[in-house]
Amino acid sequence: MYCPTLKDRTEIRFDGRKGVFFRGQIEFATVVGNCATFPAALVDSAASRFAILACASDWRPIGGGSSHCLFTFRVYNWRLANKPSEIADSALTTVAQIAALLEELAPPRLAEEWDNVGLLVGDKNREVEKLMTCLTVTPAVAAEAVEQGADLIVAHHPIPFVATKRLTSDTTVGRLLLELMAARIAVYSGHTAFDSAGEGINQLLAEGLELREIVPLTPHPEGQGTGRWGRLDEPVPLGDLAGRLKRFLRIERVQIVGRIGHLVRAAAIGCGAADELLAAAVANDCDAMVLGEARFHTCLEAEARGISLLLPGHFASERFALERLAGAIAARFPKLNVWASRSERDPLQWG
Ligand SMILES: [Zn+2]
Repeated sequence: MYCPTLKDRTEIRFDGRKGVFFRGQIEFATVVGNCATFPAALVDSAASRFAILACASDWRPIGGGSSHCLFTFRVYNWRLANKPSEIADSALTTVAQIAALLEELAPPRLAEEWDNVGLLVGDKNREVEKLMTCLTVTPAVAAEAVEQGADLIVAHHPIPFVATKRLTSDTTVGRLLLELMAARIAVYSGHTAFDSAGEGINQLLAEGLELREIVPLTPHPEGQGTGRWGRLDEPVPLGDLAGRLKRFLRIERVQIVGRIGHLVRAAAIGCGAADELLAAAVANDCDAMVLGEARFHTCLEAEARGISLLLPGHFASERFALERLAGAIAARFPKLNVWASRSERDPLQWG
């Protein structure tokens, strides 16, 4: 029986079934079992104070199970992940690491207080190899995630959204959550934090319309904020602005409130369902506002106030940003398999 002993301030982190991360000066080690390469790894790691070993699921720490701890341990049935020089790249990606990136891109403090954002389902220490983004977890989207073996879904709309006292198959949300949990798929949602973020949906829409001097409609005390508005370089007829929006979102139709000849000098943005932002757009003297969708009486109020509306649809106003987010995550974690849901569709269709 060999028992590697890590001395000094050794930090050990184990992040799931495939790997173990060792950091620190290794003074002495012996190893049990079929581990012929371990001593060589120790020499290198002692020099670099850094080593990562991939190992099988029967790796067991002795004396504790927390993810950061100091103790003597044994290693069984392990193998080296890589040469030590390549070690940094081979680190596992965990749910927590991706959540940290998402919180950096869309800080949860920007979320509306009624919202439910962050990691909503799952174990933050689990490894992620496959990640799917989507606007909403629907039965089709959940089935895709299960079929494709996704480990994490980054869904814009939270699930669960409201406080939930029981989780049964009697409700759609309950069925979906049970299905995802059975497949050990985690769910992260940014929602209004992502709407409002510096590179969030409303900012992207404002840039897509080529607005200048873009600022939040309702500033957050710590920067950024809800919605956006900005000025156009020169006045643009509403019909042309609608064309710009359709090209940016790659859609064929947009609902319009107002005259297509109405000259727009300043425009406001509120993705998804954001009727409540109309008043701020009026207060900022905007000539037009893009809302994902709007209630009938919001359309009448806009008409009465002389502000035009462009309504591309809730789905179109937000889904494009989840495709971009998949790209941003893949750029930061190049070894992950990341995609935007391919089965997701707008439930609304033109007849
Ligand atoms: Zn939405």
